[in-house]
Amino acid sequence: MELKEPKVLAAAKPYAYDLTLEDWQEWIKESGEAGFRAGQIFDWLYVKRVSSFEEMTNLPKSLREKLVEQFDFVTLSEVAKYESKDGTVKFLFELADKNAIETVIMKHSYGNSVCVTTQVGCRIGCTFCASTLTGLKRNLTPGEIIAQVVKAQQQLDPTNERVSSIVIMGIGEPFENYDAMMKFLKVMIHPKGLNIGQRHITVSTSGIVPNIYRFAEENTQINLAISIHAPNDTLRSKLMPVNRRYPFAELIEACQYYVAKTGRRITFEYALMGGVNDRPEHAEELAQVLKTFPMAHVNLIPVNFVSERDYVRTPRDDIFTFQRILERNKVNATIRREQGSDIAAACGQLRAKHMESGAR
Ligand code: SF4
Repeated sequence: MELKEPKVLAAAKPYAYDLTLEDWQEWIKESGEAGFRAGQIFDWLYVKRVSSFEEMTNLPKSLREKLVEQFDFVTLSEVAKYESKDGTVKFLFELADKNAIETVIMKHSYGNSVCVTTQVGCRIGCTFCASTLTGLKRNLTPGEIIAQVVKAQQQLDPTNERVSSIVIMGIGEPFENYDAMMKFLKVMIHPKGLNIGQRHITVSTSGIVPNIYRFAEENTQINLAISIHAPNDTLRSKLMPVNRRYPFAELIEACQYYVAKTGRRITFEYALMGGVNDRPEHAEELAQVLKTFPMAHVNLIPVNFVSERDYVRTPRDDIFTFQRILERNKVNATIRREQGSDIAAACGQLRAKHMESGAR
């Protein structure tokens, strides 16, 4: 599989959300404006969360005009919003170029978590995932990722709640849109931006090995999750074609490097598929691989049914058996609580349905 950088939107103007505070400082300097204006713009964008430059009333009119001339606001038009009985809210948004993306708000006892999309579609081809069925259209810009969190926050504003954590686990492979993802993260964690604690953010990758090394050097407290889904090379290649490009042993080596370099634990995501990767022998094999990590944690995810795929759910007792085998081998494992199953909240399912109706 050839992994070149995917294309991004060829927008006429950059989005205001595409810029970090440092980018704004630079732009303000180049524009010959007073330095403190950068902080004011940032404040309007992320604290007051306005949706036009006209509303930035403490900026001189000439500066507002310059901003209108040079930047756009991201438009996320709400095509559909589904609310689950368990409080999960799933949005289907249309971007300026009519492509559709999904964003999910999940309610937990510890706060509200938002799951964001980083690409329009995905080319990684995981066989259990609806997001990849029609391939990759394009990367999102940093601003298009940020706008999803701002929208989620606006949804929570009437009840005075806040977005307290973020998972980058929506449609797309974030490590294939690395630079945009890093800019997004900078704005999320900035005390003058959305100010979300680094330890409350998780980035999940299917195993783009070079960028695991790169992420290890970023010196952040952001959590890393690896979608492992199989205990060996052969099975992983069947379930995840990315494994043919970055084989299992290379992935594990990169993870070992990350842990040694950062001192942080990795969460391994394991989607259980009935009769495919959920047998006791798979659990034993996985435990042998992961017990070499000092603090490995496995998230067991009973797979969601995708109508275009053949996978079936693992019976409840077998899920517990799998968990017990890991724990007996001193590998910490939790079973992920299913959220929003009554609203097709599995990644890519709403977009896939929307596309069936002729949309992009
Ligand atoms: S699971 Fe993630 S990486 Fe794999 S195809 Fe789906 S969106 Fe892409």
